[in-house]
Amino acid sequence: MKNTVGLMALLLSSVAYGHGDMADSGQVFKEVPVTNDIVMLQGKGGNIGLLQGEDGVLLIDDDYKENIGALEKALDKKSAKPRFIINTHWHGDHTGGNEHLGEYASIVAHDNVRSRMASDQEIKFFGMNVPASPKAALPLITFEQSMTLHFNGQTLDVVHYPNGHTDGDSIVIIQPANVVHMGDHFFSGFFPFVDLESGGSVQGMTKNIEAVITKMNKDTKVIPGHGPLSTQKDVKTYHKMLVKTTAIVKRAMDKGKSLEDIKKKGLPSKWKSWGNGFIKEGVWITLVYTSLKG
Ligand SMILES: [Zn+2]
Repeated sequence: MKNTVGLMALLLSSVAYGHGDMADSGQVFKEVPVTNDIVMLQGKGGNIGLLQGEDGVLLIDDDYKENIGALEKALDKKSAKPRFIINTHWHGDHTGGNEHLGEYASIVAHDNVRSRMASDQEIKFFGMNVPASPKAALPLITFEQSMTLHFNGQTLDVVHYPNGHTDGDSIVIIQPANVVHMGDHFFSGFFPFVDLESGGSVQGMTKNIEAVITKMNKDTKVIPGHGPLSTQKDVKTYHKMLVKTTAIVKRAMDKGKSLEDIKKKGLPSKWKSWGNGFIKEGVWITLVYTSLKG
C-alpha cells in the first residue's frame, strides 16, 4: 500500500530515520535483533525478516522499490546476497525489492501473489491504480496451501491464510527459533488495513489471527507487517480489538444504523489509541462495515 504506508512511514519516522549513513532514497534501515541469526529490518514499507547463517541470507519481504539502494546497503553489511525471498502478499511495500533482488534470489509466494502482481490492480478504497510488475519481479515458486523451506538449521513453514489482509497472504513460522513473521495480518497496536478489493476481509483476518495464536507461546517473537517487534500477548490484544470493534459495528448495523451514524458515534475510548496509526478510527469503522456488508 503505497499511500497508506507512506503515512505509516511518517508514523514510524522516529524509528525509521534513526541513524547511520543515508542511502539514495534518504532511507536507512533500522536493525532490530530478533534472535542470534534473525533480525527485523525496518525501513519505509513492511517489516523485513532476515535470516543469516551457513546457508546464506533469506529475506521475508523486501520493502518499496525506491528503497532498494538502502536495502542493498543494509545487505552489504551482511556481505551476502539473499538466496531466497518470501513475499507475505502482493502489496508494493512488501515486494518492491523483488525486481532487483530477483537477479540472485528465488522468490517464493502464494499463487495469488504472482497472479495479482502479473496484472494491473486497483484499490478503489485509496483511489490507487497499481500497474502490473515486470516479469523479473514475479515470484518464481508459488504454492496453494503451504510450503516448507529448510535453511540455516531452521524450518520455515510458509502457510497461506485465506481472505485476511488480501487473498494471498502467508504467515511464516520459523522453528526452532520460535519466530513468526505475520505479514500484514498483524499491525501491532494499530487498526490494520484490510484490502477488501484484493479478497481480504475483516472476518477472515480475525479467524486467521485466532488460528495463528495457537501456534505461538509466551516466548514467541512476532514480526508484524507494521509496528514494533511483538509477542503472542500483543497478538492476543490485537485479536480482542478485532473481535470487539467488529461486534460494536455489527450491533449498530443490526439496529439499522447507517455508516455515517456509526462513525459519528465512534468506538469506546479504550480503542481510540488504535486509530493513532495510518488507519484512523473512521476508516477502520468503514472497513469493518464494508466487510460485514460483504
Ligand atoms: Zn499490505
